Amino acid sequence: MSVIGIDFSNESCYVAAARSGGIKTLANDYPPRATPSFVAFDGKKRIIGVAAKNQQVTNMKNTVGGFKRLLGRKFNDPHVQHELTSIPARVEARGDGSIGIKVNYLGEDQHFGPEQLTAMLFTKLKETSAAAMQTQVNDCVIACPVFFTNAERKALLDAAQIAGLNVLRLMNETTATALAYGFYKNDLFEDKPRNVIFVDFGHSSLQASACAFTKGKLKMLASTWDQIGGRDIDLALGDYFAKEFQERYKINAKTNARANLRLLTEIEKLKKQMSANSTKLPLNIECFLDDIDVSSSMQRSQMEELCAPVLQRVEQTFKRLLAESKLQLDDIHSVEIVGGSSRIPSVKQLIEQVFNKPASTTLNQDEAVSRGAAFSAPSCRQLYASESLASLIYRTTPLSRLLTINRKGPFNVSIVYGQQVPYPDQTIGVWKIKDVKPTERGEGQDVKLKVRINNNGIVLISSATLVEKKEAEEAAAAAEQAASEEKPGDQTNNAGEPADGQQEGADKKKKASKATELPLECTTHGFSPVDLSNYTQQESKMIGNDQKETERIDAKNALEEFVYDMRNKLQGGPLERFVVESEREKIVSQLNDLENWLYEDGEDCERDIYTSRLQALHQKTDPIKLRASDYEQGPAAFDELKNSI
Ligand code: ATP
Ligand code: MG
Repeated sequence: MSVIGIDFSNESCYVAAARSGGIKTLANDYPPRATPSFVAFDGKKRIIGVAAKNQQVTNMKNTVGGFKRLLGRKFNDPHVQHELTSIPARVEARGDGSIGIKVNYLGEDQHFGPEQLTAMLFTKLKETSAAAMQTQVNDCVIACPVFFTNAERKALLDAAQIAGLNVLRLMNETTATALAYGFYKNDLFEDKPRNVIFVDFGHSSLQASACAFTKGKLKMLASTWDQIGGRDIDLALGDYFAKEFQERYKINAKTNARANLRLLTEIEKLKKQMSANSTKLPLNIECFLDDIDVSSSMQRSQMEELCAPVLQRVEQTFKRLLAESKLQLDDIHSVEIVGGSSRIPSVKQLIEQVFNKPASTTLNQDEAVSRGAAFSAPSCRQLYASESLASLIYRTTPLSRLLTINRKGPFNVSIVYGQQVPYPDQTIGVWKIKDVKPTERGEGQDVKLKVRINNNGIVLISSATLVEKKEAEEAAAAAEQAASEEKPGDQTNNAGEPADGQQEGADKKKKASKATELPLECTTHGFSPVDLSNYTQQESKMIGNDQKETERIDAKNALEEFVYDMRNKLQGGPLERFVVESEREKIVSQLNDLENWLYEDGEDCERDIYTSRLQALHQKTDPIKLRASDYEQGPAAFDELKNSI
């Protein structure tokens, strides 16, 4: 079974997997290979990815994008409120304060949470990957921003589970990028680290990291980030053009969601062109608002002025990285860039200014994160172990700490972030440690807590153990006595089982173990098992519905295609001379009626109606086809007969 690596981004996703000859980015339904992170709904089905983005302008209220940044958050979170300014869909607070995105689906208003929308996108990625690899896909490694908090990571894991994906690991995008770089490097040294800076400037985030590579090892020295990206540049330019159009044409693009979306789409195109061209470039939109055509222009220097605050934050993020990694400029081997917005010339200039090295493009800027995620899959490491030593050891070890707390009764432990994180609630979780009792003398006892940051970057208390001093001593004495009573030899019975005496001794020894595992109850982020199961069922139902709808449309298309094809063949085509004229006219008239029916009453029927009509047509026309093929094969069959005599 294949494992896929997913770069789930705010704007678009990439999926990669180990295939013959290396790690390959998988194709989706359309070129380019990115799947836009968009989900749309209509009266019959869900529309996901490329098709969803393509119909956004005509179905704005029921098309949702940008939901990655809403994961694991409540509606009244200021961050959510900020994100909602760029999401045209209707979003409401649900009863429990969570986010409900309201869309019209199957003819009624329904609410979906960001986790469910993410699950829908994952379902699509799962399907397209399975089609590309021609095998079932269940296991994956998902990359997420380095700044994702516990709540967001849990939400992402919940989303994957709803989509039936088994997450082998949730890995930081920064680590994935570094892996994509280091995987094939076989010119690294054991003792002299190669320090590489990675800059990932995407649509809504900037992540920079400093890594030290030695032979077979990768050490993350530091990571810094900011929640800025290409979209902030688009918005800054959007404000500028909206103001200009207000003055010149007296129209307000901001008040019309559709116009605003069209403006931002054109601006993004212009922005990309400006990366390759420093001359003045045009921006034209026909029938923009009130049937008015608008036109303007911009050149790179002007864009840089308008985006100065964004560029300033980029510079600050780079400088923080330099300080936190404690690297001297001379220690830096190279600066590798990934992410679409790192193509902007002024960003490359800032890199050179801060790190004193030109921006290097060793990696595929768009596909590095997904490839790095795929590299980290265990099956992939095995596959490439012989080719690259590095592949075996690139693994970040989960962190584990043992804490000892002395208590007389049950108690709660809260784990909070040590520094401010970009999430309103700074608490990671509260763990209730149950069944703690005082000693017989009424004293407190030691409870050992194992606190871990697991492979997914999630913080948890994995176990609590009571160390019972007095009883332990007694049990130890009892075990010692039992051991001295054991007879030497004859320690197993006929069945090869330990003899009774020995079993007893072992039991006593067990009692001598000083630790008792305590039950834990945890309140943290993420769905309850009941919610998860409900959402998973709902997703399966929607998948079933989509499949049914696809089959229905396919049946309709098959009928339509048959009608056109048969009519052409009967009228001046190869079948014309194999049917008497009166019969031919009758069939052609039936085909014409069917065509009209398909555009009117038959536009929206059940699948079976289309298939039964197609079957009826086959019954009528198959004999004609048979006559034609008999005739064509006739002489050959005759030749064969002649030869055999
Ligand atoms: P994120 O990582 O922030 O969640 P993402 O991974 O979807 O988002 P990317 O695909 O790395 O983002 O980058 C998309 C952004 O890069 C968009 O804002 C896009 O406009 C911008 N971009 C792509 N190509 C260019 C270019 N040639 N010049 C300037 N900007 C570009
Ligand atoms: Mg990205």
